[in-house]
Amino acid sequence: MIYDAIIIGKGPAGISAALYTVRANMKTLVFGTGKSALDKADKIENYYGFSQPISGEKLLEEGENQLLRLGGEMRDEEVISISKEELFQVSTTTGTWQSHAVLIATGQKNVNIGIRNLKKFEGKGVSYCTTCDGFFYRGKKAGVLGFNDFALHEAKELLPFTKDITLFTNGKATSFSKDTESILQQLAMNETPIRSFEGEEFLEKILFEDGSVFSLDGIFIAYESASSTTFALKMGILMQDQYIVTDQNQRTNIDGLYAAGDCTGVFKQISVAVGQGAIAGRNMIEYIRKQKQ
Ligand SMILES: Cc1cc2nc3c(=O)[nH]c(=O)nc-3n(C[C@H](O)[C@H](O)[C@H](O)COP(=O)(O)OP(=O)(O)OC[C@H]3O[C@@H](n4cnc5c(N)ncnc54)[C@H](O)[C@@H]3O)c2cc1C
Repeated sequence: MIYDAIIIGKGPAGISAALYTVRANMKTLVFGTGKSALDKADKIENYYGFSQPISGEKLLEEGENQLLRLGGEMRDEEVISISKEELFQVSTTTGTWQSHAVLIATGQKNVNIGIRNLKKFEGKGVSYCTTCDGFFYRGKKAGVLGFNDFALHEAKELLPFTKDITLFTNGKATSFSKDTESILQQLAMNETPIRSFEGEEFLEKILFEDGSVFSLDGIFIAYESASSTTFALKMGILMQDQYIVTDQNQRTNIDGLYAAGDCTGVFKQISVAVGQGAIAGRNMIEYIRKQKQ
């Protein structure tokens, strides 16, 4: 089945956009993992329409219920890749869905991996994009840093280039779906906590907390979850710093692909995310109608 709109993120920006697309009779699918910035907000007092403080959790719940009441469809899954052929292809570990338009409303990812020198070697052996850089590691010794399905997805993308891949979990508990067994079998695994990345100009080795060392040519970071940066690097979406660049209609540089909310680096507030979501939704409707004419 082809969706009109796929929305990645069920925070205020994503749900707000979906309210518009659904009410315009657009077949809409929203993906979200439940990790919204709002989960951490205990008391919200500055959002319009609530005379008493409301918790972030409650606001999110109300938003989701509002969308479901109007006929929106939601899947509690993490999107690990987006690509565009004639239509957009949006994949999780359980399947791939197609749509005419996509909105990225994934919020801001704040993960401090805490490995010394990680930043120093970015672009010099540390990569965030197997699609972009996998080719450079043909037949070489590569690593993937991560501990869940997202990391396995990246390792799978790397396998056509090299069979010498080690999954470094940095001491984190792993969490893999059952159907990933065949990928895991093709990888070596190192579960030791990492202290630092080492090398002269380029990454040469990993130094672990227990004092051991592992030499390698490069490592791909696929830590925790796929973020707007992951999608941007793979699809060539224009970014400024770590944020997606949009025009005033929330359009990115890729036709049919929109972004809204904290992932665009605006004033990080619910009202702004909801407003940008509404603008994105409105413009996606126009775009989809034209595509289907
Ligand atoms: C502690 C705290 C307190 C705050 N208090 C206030 C306040 O009082 N007032 C105010 O206006 N703002 C407040 N904010 C800011 C506000 O929470 C954000 O501006 C707002 O939530 C941004 O909405 P968003 O939809 O852009 O992103 P988010 O709300 O962060 O939602 C992102 C969504 O994307 C999903 N997602 C991410 N990656 C993927 C993926 N790969 N696949 C599928 N889904 C994915 C997540 O599951 C989530 O549903 C607070 C923030 C924090 C952290």
